[in-house]
Amino acid sequence: MTQEIFKKKNVWLFDLDNTIYSPKTKIFDQIDRRMKLFISDKLKISSDEAFKIQKLYYSKYGTTLFGLMKNYDFEPEEFLEFVHNVDLSNLKKCSKLIQQLKLLPGKKIIYTNGDFDYAKRVLCKLEIEELFDEIFDIKKSRYIPKPKIKPFQDFLQDKKIDTKNCVYFEDLEDNLRPASKIGMTTIHICNERKIKIKPFIDFRFKTIINALDMINNSIKNL
Ligand SMILES: [Mg+2]
Repeated sequence: MTQEIFKKKNVWLFDLDNTIYSPKTKIFDQIDRRMKLFISDKLKISSDEAFKIQKLYYSKYGTTLFGLMKNYDFEPEEFLEFVHNVDLSNLKKCSKLIQQLKLLPGKKIIYTNGDFDYAKRVLCKLEIEELFDEIFDIKKSRYIPKPKIKPFQDFLQDKKIDTKNCVYFEDLEDNLRPASKIGMTTIHICNERKIKIKPFIDFRFKTIINALDMINNSIKNL
């Protein structure tokens, strides 16, 4: 796939955690620990057992929450509020990110398995909240998490957005597979050394800024 395709795009979809900000901030590690704490407290089990359940559900259902809702009578609101109650002081405003986001022509949407309030807090901390048209969170997704894309696809259809006009940035490979299947251009944000690029990944960049820099340059030069 060549960079030329970007001039035809006008909808930009961004995952939140570890995509819009770097995993080096360790924000998501805090969420991960709080999930374990929540499960061990609610189910009255050890933290090791809670961790096993957390990871089992995550791999089986896409999010730990969805597994908890399937297997126990869990109140999703309480869970979401608890796990997202994290310290965001490692998130810093980045003028390059702001500049590159502003240059992108068209709609910008956050597509996250987290909840709206948390996403909003992250965006505010980075001072980019006004640059986004929409936050599609786990509640809007009716708690059906990525990689399942149907709720989001319905939302796009509702807004009369053609998936072929969409570019999707995401750090988790599995979430890009269904997106590619429905016609989106997929961009994997990954700072690890990986040799192989899977067929459903169109581009890979180390950071969101690298990706946006390339895209904005190729739009400018075409
Ligand atoms: Mg992510």
